[in-house]
Amino acid sequence: MDQIAATKVAQVVVPRPLPGPLSYLVPVALESSIQVGSLVQVPLSSKSIDGFVVGFTTLADPALQGFKLKKILSVPFDKPMFSPKDLEFFLWIADYYQLPIGEVFNSAFPRAIFKIPKRTVTKKSKETTPETITPVELTVDQAAALCAVRQSIDAKRFKSFLLFGVTGSGKTEVYIRAAQAVIEQQRSALILVPEIALTPQLRKRFEDRFHNQVAVLHSGLSEKVRREFWWDILNGTRKVVVGARSALFAPLENIGLIVVDEEHEPSYKQEDRLRYSARDLALVRARQHNAATILGSATPAIETFYAAEKGKHELLQLRTRPAERPMPEVQIVDLKNEYKEVLHGSKEARLLLGRSLRDALAEVLLRKEQAMIFINRKGFSSFVMCGDCGEVPKCLNCSVSLTYYQRAREMRCHYCGLRLPMVEQCAKCKSYEIKLMGMGSELIEDEVKSLFPHARVERLDADTADTIKKLEATLERFRSGETQVLVGTQMLAKGHDFPNVTLVGVVLADMNLHLPDFRAGERTFQLLAQVSGRAGRGSKPGRVILQTLLPDHYVIQAAATQDYLSFYKTEIEYRQQFGYPPFSRMAQLEFRDLKEERAHEQADRVRQLLDHLDPDARGFSYLGPAAASIARIANQFRWQILVKSEKSSALNAVIKTLRKEGVRFIDVDPVTTL
Ligand code: ADP
Ligand code: ZN
Ligand code: ZN
Repeated sequence: MDQIAATKVAQVVVPRPLPGPLSYLVPVALESSIQVGSLVQVPLSSKSIDGFVVGFTTLADPALQGFKLKKILSVPFDKPMFSPKDLEFFLWIADYYQLPIGEVFNSAFPRAIFKIPKRTVTKKSKETTPETITPVELTVDQAAALCAVRQSIDAKRFKSFLLFGVTGSGKTEVYIRAAQAVIEQQRSALILVPEIALTPQLRKRFEDRFHNQVAVLHSGLSEKVRREFWWDILNGTRKVVVGARSALFAPLENIGLIVVDEEHEPSYKQEDRLRYSARDLALVRARQHNAATILGSATPAIETFYAAEKGKHELLQLRTRPAERPMPEVQIVDLKNEYKEVLHGSKEARLLLGRSLRDALAEVLLRKEQAMIFINRKGFSSFVMCGDCGEVPKCLNCSVSLTYYQRAREMRCHYCGLRLPMVEQCAKCKSYEIKLMGMGSELIEDEVKSLFPHARVERLDADTADTIKKLEATLERFRSGETQVLVGTQMLAKGHDFPNVTLVGVVLADMNLHLPDFRAGERTFQLLAQVSGRAGRGSKPGRVILQTLLPDHYVIQAAATQDYLSFYKTEIEYRQQFGYPPFSRMAQLEFRDLKEERAHEQADRVRQLLDHLDPDARGFSYLGPAAASIARIANQFRWQILVKSEKSSALNAVIKTLRKEGVRFIDVDPVTTL
């Protein structure tokens, strides 16, 4: 027993799905070391668990009368783990997504950091031999963009910019210079990039400029390295954080600049637990720190460009590539013409690479240059089909067809990971006429290898690059020229810079255009434009060949001319006509159950609730309930309701009510509705 009874009470958030913090007595002996942001150990149902202090009150608080409070057990660290400003940020997120604050802490604080590292990572060698890099001279557009951003940095005032420039136009150079400006002011910079763009190349560019001030955060780090970086950031020794989505929560103080590179990337949205958008939250955090924010993209999200048009972001444009590197020449190849030859019995026309692509590839190999062949689908072939009765083997747990993997001779489900041996006989009609339909990265790889047996060909997709190490090794072999042709999925599309690539081929450009998702057109355009941008990054001109069945489609046309604005004009009209974002905000409700009727019933109950709320009077509407396009995932049936409103406040009110009613799966501002 303490001599003096403790009367100070701390409010502690624990990693449990509770609506709010719990109250604990602060022992007198610990009073001086417990602050807002302190990590503490507290007793909860006979266990000791970690929690974070978010506020204080006293025993006199009327809300606490009648409760017998337990005491905080210990405080592992003297230093608080977050600042009051960060707490404001966490509270904002909890309110916006209408989730318990504990969920926000779960996403913001990885378990790895709950321990002080023995020694922090400092690469001494880098410090003593800083490379002298002669800075490049900025282009006129780069200089103008930097000047605008610097005004906001120097005024220490929040402002958001959309840096709109084709791939290779020098956006990264602008980020680096802006970061230099804030570092000179003793402030810090947060650079968010898509996970896959965190290649050694990008890392090196930042390390060359900022040496061991840089912390690079990505999912491939060991717990030890993650912990060391995290504590270095908290202690203020690393002021430049380059990282993927979750780096948004890096414990930086005094942020002067936040960059969201490739801001249109769907990977900025976390799809489980706390379904947050790192891009949207970057703007919130930047505002709290009075930081300048740069959203960079060659193909901005429709919402972002619309916001820039409305003056919410200042539009900065990089119109050309530095050193007057020309944009690649893009050619559309109509596959229907190639297919006609099939009818005339030509064997070669059955190939996935059409004649133009084959000829171009032969030339590239002859000139000892490099090529990338892109297919928006992994695996050997999209599915297996019975040639007699049309039966398609499906996953036992999910309502999707299985993908054939030739190397392993098995069929796999892309949703739940189920693997089955390849069938030899149709389960329905017992025929042996099993056919492979569609196309996948493995199949293309095999075709390129058999067409060009002497070429060094490699494949890059989620299977060959299932770890960051393997991904980097593959990219390194391509960069060094060891690999001549790289075949792959959308992994190829992101931020890589390979100067010797002079040809990019897209095997079927319209592949995903018909997915039942209002963003299908936008995604396809973005992918095609990004992938085309991989050609001609060096001094040699590049060439892009888009094979398609829909040569006249506006998405294909705009992608071929690299004309974002013409794509945007068509797309925004369509969004307005159907009342999709940015003309509304949406929330997707999902109901899952092992029994279909139960999923349906849950959805129906919520529909009645929504009707009861009186959509017309409250200014919202909803679609559904309906079975999801992918009706079953991992054995769970999925039903959906899509809630839509032109008024943000109306949508928030509905979400709040639904959470109270116990609706668990709510995706606020979904990036995909499949
Ligand atoms: P982005 O981020 O828009 O794709 P980068 O900043 O990576 O473009 O620039 C593409 C290439 O051009 C890089 O190799 C970079 O070093 C180079 N570069 C950037 N700015 C300049 C410049 N002003 N003068 C010459 N080269 C530049
Ligand atoms: Zn059959
Ligand atoms: Zn499955």
